Amino acid sequence: MIYRAFLIKYGEIGLKGKNRHVFENILCEQIRFHLKGLGEFEVLREQGRIFVSCPEQYDYEETVKELGKVFGVTGICPVVVIDTTDWDKITEAVLSYVDSFYTDKNFTFKVEAKRADKRYPVTSPEMCARLGESLLHRFESLSVDVHEPQVRITVEVRNRSYVYSHVIPGPGGMPVGSSGRAMLLLSGGIDSPVAGYMIAKRGVEIEAVYFHAPPYTSERAKQKVVDLAEIISGYTGPITLHVVNFTDIQMYIYEQCPHEQLTIIMRRYMMRIAELLAKKSGCMGLITGESIGQVASQTMQSLNATNAVCTIPVYRPLIAFDKQDIVTIAEKIKTYETSILPYEDCCTIFVAKHPVTKPLLSGIEQSETHLCERIEELVQTALDTIEIIKVGE
Ligand code: ATP
Ligand code: MG
Repeated sequence: MIYRAFLIKYGEIGLKGKNRHVFENILCEQIRFHLKGLGEFEVLREQGRIFVSCPEQYDYEETVKELGKVFGVTGICPVVVIDTTDWDKITEAVLSYVDSFYTDKNFTFKVEAKRADKRYPVTSPEMCARLGESLLHRFESLSVDVHEPQVRITVEVRNRSYVYSHVIPGPGGMPVGSSGRAMLLLSGGIDSPVAGYMIAKRGVEIEAVYFHAPPYTSERAKQKVVDLAEIISGYTGPITLHVVNFTDIQMYIYEQCPHEQLTIIMRRYMMRIAELLAKKSGCMGLITGESIGQVASQTMQSLNATNAVCTIPVYRPLIAFDKQDIVTIAEKIKTYETSILPYEDCCTIFVAKHPVTKPLLSGIEQSETHLCERIEELVQTALDTIEIIKVGE
């Protein structure tokens, strides 16, 4: 017996009341998008459930892996579909289910049963009792434990009937597309890809911006960011990556401003440009990988100075995370190996030996007045020469 379908469990969407079907439809779309390269799957919303029907030939492992990347999914249940609601046939199907999927029949179990139509002649408690009895009768080494069973055999009778006992955990969250869009400041580091993943997990569509400084940063450094965007798009769906040439702005700041303030002023210009791009493409916020105290540019004073130039919300999902906790997620989502490739980042090239760690906003603003002659023109040129790269389509 092989599985011909999956029942998809979803968490928070179930709490959405009247809007629930809107979220369910977005989740169905996301599931279709993720499976489209793996065959002709049919994704159906049916009486408060989502079912994925599989084609004749499909790769079980790949399918489970792909379903495991869809935000909003809390559980993936490989399910046996019985094209009838006939009680005797259901009983037979449950027996052969246990027979073929459990070679070792030394386990405790509990049957859980649901009927969608309350007029179905067998009540749910009766279904549990009768199926339990049939199983004990057929397989003598089984035993019942209703409190902590090793295996929960679930039987649902709807237009058709369903049997399953495995629940493979999904990522949880909300389906991408259910919460608007935000602009991720994506560097080649460990943190920002994780930050993008976490916000996308709340249903937010992601666009990304990368600031590079050729020839100080190489093509390989840029390619690394493209590769990271590609990996994240495996979860979030397509990402539009805006590559901004930041060299002239960075050089100009270097010439005009105190070197110990360089990183903060640079970060402020990144935020300003990211916000302009965000507004142009309908993004409702910025996302960064910042975390309090991680480096000089992320002390509370520095974050305050960086934040002061933004007029839209800046989402910093890692703000209270330790580096090791971020690394653990990066490993899980498979961005870590790429993030640690040793290519230079534009932030690290001009860094001062002793950057300010407690910048005063007024002092930073004062230094930025030295940029008034050319900065607007340089920002405009940077905007005019953006390269757009689409990944994950
Ligand atoms: P990351 O690991 O994400 O690079 P980091 O620890 O290196 O973070 P910083 O270099 O201070 O920290 O950057 C803080 C945040 O600013 C990053 O998480 C990212 O969101 C953004 N950022 C930094 N450099 C760039 C860049 N070159 N392009 C786009 N965003 C950037
Ligand atoms: Mg960085």
